[in-house]
Amino acid sequence: MAEISESRRVRVRFAPSPTGPLHIGGVRTALYNYLFARQHGGDLIFRIEDTDSNRFVPGAEDYILKAFRWLGIRFDEGVSFGGNYGPYRQSERRDIYRKYVDLLLEAGRAYIAFDTPAELEAKRAEIPNFQYDASTRMQMRNSLTMSKADVDALIAAGNQYVVRFLIEPDEEVRVNDLIRGLVTVNSSVLDDKVLFKSADQLPTYHLANIVDDHLMEVTHVIRGEEWLPSAPLHVLLYKAFGWEDTMPQFAHLPLLLKPEGNGKLSKRDGDRLGFPVFPLEWHDPKTGEISSGYREKDYLPEAVINFLALLGWNPGNDQEIMTMDEMVELFNLEKCSKAGARFNYQKLVWFNHEYIMSKSDSEIAAMFMPVLESHGVRTTRERAEKAVSLVKNRVNFTGELWDNCSYLFQAPTSYDEKSLKKWWKEEAPVTTAQLCDFIESQPEFKGEILEPLVMEWIASKGYATGKVMNALRVTLVGAAMGPQIFEITDFLGREETLRRARKAIQILS
Ligand code: GLU
Repeated sequence: MAEISESRRVRVRFAPSPTGPLHIGGVRTALYNYLFARQHGGDLIFRIEDTDSNRFVPGAEDYILKAFRWLGIRFDEGVSFGGNYGPYRQSERRDIYRKYVDLLLEAGRAYIAFDTPAELEAKRAEIPNFQYDASTRMQMRNSLTMSKADVDALIAAGNQYVVRFLIEPDEEVRVNDLIRGLVTVNSSVLDDKVLFKSADQLPTYHLANIVDDHLMEVTHVIRGEEWLPSAPLHVLLYKAFGWEDTMPQFAHLPLLLKPEGNGKLSKRDGDRLGFPVFPLEWHDPKTGEISSGYREKDYLPEAVINFLALLGWNPGNDQEIMTMDEMVELFNLEKCSKAGARFNYQKLVWFNHEYIMSKSDSEIAAMFMPVLESHGVRTTRERAEKAVSLVKNRVNFTGELWDNCSYLFQAPTSYDEKSLKKWWKEEAPVTTAQLCDFIESQPEFKGEILEPLVMEWIASKGYATGKVMNALRVTLVGAAMGPQIFEITDFLGREETLRRARKAIQILS
């Protein structure tokens, strides 16, 4: 397996095409690049690969930047971050690419082709499994089959053309992948890929990607498995330019699989099973369609990051909860798995719960205050914090807090049927009224003092503790749910506790 070379400063990049919202798999790729860069004290570059104008979607670049800000993934240079290797948006690098296309043409490593879509279509119909390569290129309309004068005349007359990479057949192309090991491909299976199109004067992904990785001194290309088939072509391009000595090391990350494990994770799986596949909500500018995002669904960014880090890698012990710093320290590209990683979103829900528990009540309360306000509750930060401390262990999402503690701020206006049936028995009005009188007669209301006294009183009356206390609970909460009852009474205070209990006796009698 290839060794990670330490001789050059580590430089990695995340290079999305702005064709829509950032898929969760892309977030995982960016995260692994981030961890790798941090670990090696290197640089993480943010490059926008927007050479395919047909697929450009307005707002996508901005969305991607916002998503990383929310997730806490920071870039060292690139679009919107600055740096010495710019511009970092490929559409602003036309002149650079043109120069390198010309270099390949001059060296005879590429050629100009005039075949129209209709002509290519005709060839495909004529030759089964047609591929533009060594076996067919001499039958086509290109600078290899035409005179220089004819080529120049066609261009001068405004005919559109493409520049194709000339791939020599029957060569062993070796891709040294840090995760997959040595991958060998015979060059005859590759076609003469289009590198440049005269129509928009722009290079294709392949050329721009290689030129930029070279000029930006990228040392490691860490990207999704879907790019593995392009890697042999990329290796040949590095060679054609004479850049093999500084060719980056490749690491192709495992696929993200459906929760069931069969096939690639798609947006449809999220729709079907009820989880987002995008970090932030996305409003499609063309269709108007809205796709849900983790942020809007109340996932904590730390939970999303921690979950994604473990999709394809693990630290080799049983540790699951890790801070970003811990991940930076433990991450190991060479320990990433080759096999696809099942997108077990239930595990993400578990992570979210764990991160809620690990955050201070004060942090969670800060998120909860606007929710309280939206329900017309005006309260102090201190009370919000107290409420959070009472119920946070019951929720997986901060968005579930309100349903679990609204009764702390608003007296019940109805009582749950099932709870009543179970706990509001015939004797309940009398025992609850007596309990109210007893509580009212006590000089101290604080739970820790009141609780043993109430227990004593129940025993002296010969009542069943469960019955008495659950009846009280239903009057205060509206249902047989919630934390320890004296925590609730402490929160409500003497006056509100007695008011709710006595009102319920009235209503329910
Ligand atoms: N622009 C490609 C993408 O959208 C980048 C692939 C690569 O990292 O080489 O993912």
